[in-house]
Amino acid sequence: MTILFASDLDRTLIYSKKSRGHEISEHDLAIVEWRENNPAAFMTKEGLEIFKELSSSIEFLPVTTRTNKQYERLFGLYNPQEKPTYSIVSNGAVILENGRPIPEWSDKVKEQLEADCTSIPHVLSQIEPYIQRGSILNSLQAENWFAYMIIDEGRFTVEDFEDLSQLFFKQGFTLSKQGRKLYVMPNCINKSLALEFVTDRLEAEIVIAAGDSLLDLDMVLGADYGFIPQHGEVILNNRALPSHVQITDHTGVLAGEEIIKKVSEICYNMYE
Ligand SMILES: [Mg+2]
Repeated sequence: MTILFASDLDRTLIYSKKSRGHEISEHDLAIVEWRENNPAAFMTKEGLEIFKELSSSIEFLPVTTRTNKQYERLFGLYNPQEKPTYSIVSNGAVILENGRPIPEWSDKVKEQLEADCTSIPHVLSQIEPYIQRGSILNSLQAENWFAYMIIDEGRFTVEDFEDLSQLFFKQGFTLSKQGRKLYVMPNCINKSLALEFVTDRLEAEIVIAAGDSLLDLDMVLGADYGFIPQHGEVILNNRALPSHVQITDHTGVLAGEEIIKKVSEICYNMYE
């Protein structure tokens, strides 16, 4: 039986210094990413150990909004030679098979972007007033797929988020705020469609999915078992969730460990 564990990475399994919380000592943390010689992302040592053990009984599928280049910085996540066969990066615009993008998948996404008129220039012209006001500090692009912004958290209000959400919703985008980053994501670039593709390829019978943000919600809802960290954007939005979706008891990096432990339990019970 093939069990697929599809998980978002940042703020679900791995945590920055800012998002990891204060309930755990430095000593109990493992570094999974280095950026310019500085540790940038962490898991608990215990969580990482169980995670690595899991790879013998489960197909792990990272499903991240990171681009391939940003994803490749996660040196500490896998044992050498144990990288997953598939990885979903750029929020589902790119599926990697043994480290190489599957061209027919990305071509299909590109065609859809053009058909939906959900291109980056279209987004940038509309956020200009927010940049002038100083609530959006900078806009960036993820390899021509989508735009994301760095916001001034003190100036960017809940109303700003709601106004922009409504404006872009009508045009076929989903907005997601993750710390200082604001994503304006075309609906045709989504994690759950890419997950469906990989589920079929692997002929997986059971899908477990985890994620913290609004960009993860469809994937988590569509899985057989879903996990959302308590600090997740989805929880803050007070959405009603079906019974197959569990919210963690912990927040921060400990929520990541909790998810890994629960996935490990599910696996154990399945194979028993
Ligand atoms: Mg996340």
